[in-house]
Amino acid sequence: MTNSDSDLIILGGGPAGLTAAQYGARANLRVLVIEQLAPGGQALNIDKLENYPGIAPEKTGYEFAGDLHRQAEAFGAAFLSDSVLSLRREGGVFLAGLGSGEERRAPAVIIATGTKYRTLGIPGESEFTGRGVSYCAVCDGPFFRERKIFVVGGGDSACGEAQYLSRLSPRIVLIHRRDRFRAQKSLAERVLHNPRIEVRFNTRMLEIRGEAAVSGVKLEGKAVYEEDAAAVFIFTGALPQAGFAAGLGLETDEGGFLVTDQRMATAIPGLFAAGDVRATPFRQVVVAAGEGAVAAHSAAANLVEMGA
Ligand code: NAP
Repeated sequence: MTNSDSDLIILGGGPAGLTAAQYGARANLRVLVIEQLAPGGQALNIDKLENYPGIAPEKTGYEFAGDLHRQAEAFGAAFLSDSVLSLRREGGVFLAGLGSGEERRAPAVIIATGTKYRTLGIPGESEFTGRGVSYCAVCDGPFFRERKIFVVGGGDSACGEAQYLSRLSPRIVLIHRRDRFRAQKSLAERVLHNPRIEVRFNTRMLEIRGEAAVSGVKLEGKAVYEEDAAAVFIFTGALPQAGFAAGLGLETDEGGFLVTDQRMATAIPGLFAAGDVRATPFRQVVVAAGEGAVAAHSAAANLVEMGA
């Protein structure tokens, strides 16, 4: 079945997609947002959104995402819960192939599908995922209150999530492969001064062990050693979720993130990208929201130019 009652399809319902939806709907476009999980995307997992301008005191990611969703709906955006498996273009119209088997079409599309987590690829990681190995502190942290928790990574995610986990347990061990953090300085400083977090630089995780659930880890610092552990939280970066658009031959950077111009336009007329899936120097909720607004504005202008 093919449905063509949208001017603009937005793929992904995180901060970029929801802001684009609001701006698109306010520009009188018939907007459809397609999101595979709940509106809010990864922002739902933010414990405290403390660096979004104008929101003080902070909100939870869940509250913030709910507000964005309601705002976009109030301006008239429609929502569909489904996964996008393919995106192609035929005669100037984009066709999004969905997990349900349906196809949705529109003359303009914004890709705002964000990222998924990068795995470590070590023995025990996939085996114990959901049984002590996790990629979401807010989701799984409460299962390990007062237990010994390892966190892997050195960026904003690892430092921010270690801070969150330290409120649940006084035994957090944060290991990072290099001798300094990549995270923003203020966050890194908070971690280094947190008495509930032990930081081990120049350390790698080689293996995650256990039987029914995680019980220990094998680490490599100056030597290889083993240690008891109840859980391992892995925050080693983000991979773009744009494989469904591979057939369009879009330009990407070396990490696979989509390249656009400053209007968020890709090289294909009518196709835009915004948020974490885009090649951008600073992945923040406020940046994603701003990019979503620009992308919707550009899409609306493009539709007028095309006379669509
Ligand atoms: P990231 O900045 O790419 O950091 C990934 C970390 O994992 C790096 O420290 C990296 O080490 C390490 N790593 C990568 N592969 C590894 C491996 N195989 N083994 C061990 N360690 C490995 O990723 P992120 O922290 O998820 O952040 C992603 C983006 O979202 C960033 O742009 C970040 O600024 C943004 N973000 C912002 C906030 C906030 O503002 N509050 C919160 C979360 C995320 P190296 O340092 O050695 O490369």
